[in-house]
Amino acid sequence: MTTAPPRYPHAAWHGPVPNQYGDLELKPVLGVVLHVMEGSISSCDNWFHDSAAQVSAHLGNPKTGAMWQWVELDKIAWAEAGGNGRWISVEHEGFAPESLTDSQLENDAQLLAWLHQQVGVPLQLADTPTASGLGYHAMGGASWGGHYGCPGPAIVAQRPAIIARAKEILTPPPPPAELIVAHPNGGEALVDLTARQWAGIPNPADLRGLVARGVKRGNVPPLWWTSAHQVAWKPAEPAGVL
Ligand SMILES: [Zn+2]
Repeated sequence: MTTAPPRYPHAAWHGPVPNQYGDLELKPVLGVVLHVMEGSISSCDNWFHDSAAQVSAHLGNPKTGAMWQWVELDKIAWAEAGGNGRWISVEHEGFAPESLTDSQLENDAQLLAWLHQQVGVPLQLADTPTASGLGYHAMGGASWGGHYGCPGPAIVAQRPAIIARAKEILTPPPPPAELIVAHPNGGEALVDLTARQWAGIPNPADLRGLVARGVKRGNVPPLWWTSAHQVAWKPAEPAGVL
């Protein structure tokens, strides 16, 4: 693992802040450390910009909206004492023992997925300072400042969900095998994209059944219909109409 790019592309830049180790380079990244602010994102921002506070973090994760960034990811923040040199720190808006909001969980998963791609942070739990992956402040014990309540048990317990979501982000779903498509000659058709075949859907109940089992509406390129076999189609006429 190497050093991450300085700016996280999905965060709004709110730095620089005075409380960081100058231009000291972060050593190869072991992973992400979760923290809780015990306050709001704006009060945390004020605190980090106060040089007397002697504290900072790389990133802040508000209850809603995109991440904030205060320290460049290739530099060392003042977040977890003995862990500062190898870990990227993320502060969370809120108070222990609150859980992360859906937005915070998604932001953390996106960050973890990005760090996995950029610097190979493994998608796994880290529970000690010498492990790698998704860790939390309290795991560092006394050498990380003795913050045993940070970020609290609820957030610590959400880490498997963050990792699962990061894996999902990095594994895009397979393309759909079937689509409901408006046929160029009228009516709707169920297109089998794998077999490159279609069947008409004259019955509204059939259409509702397809939607109910998750078949999406979509389009196929015009060329898809150009074979004689594909375009030989006339929508079914309602029963009793000649
Ligand atoms: Zn902390």
